[in-house]
Amino acid sequence: MSAPLLLEVSELRKHFIAPRHWFSPAKPPIQAVDGVSFTVARGETLSLVGESGCGKTTTAKSVLRLIEPTSGSVKLDGEELLTLDANQMRLRRRHMQIIFQDPYASLSPRLTAGEIVAEPLRNFGASNAAQRQERVQWLFSKVGLRPEAAKKYPHEFSGGQRQRLGIARALALEPKLIVCDEPVSALDVSVQAQVVNLLTDLQAEFGLAYLFVAHDLAVVRHISHRVAVMYLGHIVEVADRDTLFNAARHPYTESLLAAVPVPDPRITRERILLQGDLPSPANPPPGCRFHTRCPLAQAICKEQRPPLTQRGTNDQGGQWVACHLR
Ligand code: SF4
Repeated sequence: MSAPLLLEVSELRKHFIAPRHWFSPAKPPIQAVDGVSFTVARGETLSLVGESGCGKTTTAKSVLRLIEPTSGSVKLDGEELLTLDANQMRLRRRHMQIIFQDPYASLSPRLTAGEIVAEPLRNFGASNAAQRQERVQWLFSKVGLRPEAAKKYPHEFSGGQRQRLGIARALALEPKLIVCDEPVSALDVSVQAQVVNLLTDLQAEFGLAYLFVAHDLAVVRHISHRVAVMYLGHIVEVADRDTLFNAARHPYTESLLAAVPVPDPRITRERILLQGDLPSPANPPPGCRFHTRCPLAQAICKEQRPPLTQRGTNDQGGQWVACHLR
């Protein structure tokens, strides 16, 4: 993707300090995100994928500083965000919105749908009451909600309609970037497709960039321009969508793809079964963090962390892999 960069994340870390009781020894920090770097261009969708506990949601929330990162750099339009004070950051948030996995939990049950979408407009003093109402109606039409739905409360909507409401609220301040945190995983499959298509249409219309967190690779394949694969707080592979799905190199990416069901029974795919569970991020394995489960692991893998290195080039950013052998 040759569009200008919007988001630049470098060496981002989030280590959670476990609470300590009076006489107990200090516990090691939980290295949820440990040195993650990536970029998102204007109008681009970068997906973060990986198993539960790999750090993808923590990464996304750290970018918005909904979770305060331990260290690193996050730049939006070239401006460093991690050094801004709370008020400066609040002002920048109008450019960076989030859509949550559970729309019901993220919508105030005491406000009508119209009030929920108008709230960010009011908070930022963006318009008077009449202009807010007009804008709310326009946003409802953009996300496929009927104007009369503005008078309803969140519990009166279906799951898909609630997610449309969450999208309308996220769009209210004309953001440049929307973090989508598992936005369709709580929805029925038929509704998932509608919401994913809505996100795609809105991106085309408004030039939005998405940082899309998901574990459903079918959805990721549909919506992404590029995909970053995370394992235990590290990015292990980044590539454009077609390269990742057709020519993945990292053994962990291969195992994730092998677990995706193929709809054609004539096509058989070799299954790569991972051994063991995801290790604890409080005590990650040395060297390559994947070595305890990797079928290709060698002696070097237990000693040296493989850097994320460019393996292939194209005009979509190329393919980057963190593996000693691939
Ligand atoms: Fe497997 Fe070694 Fe590559 Fe890690 S570096 S993915 S352990 S082969």
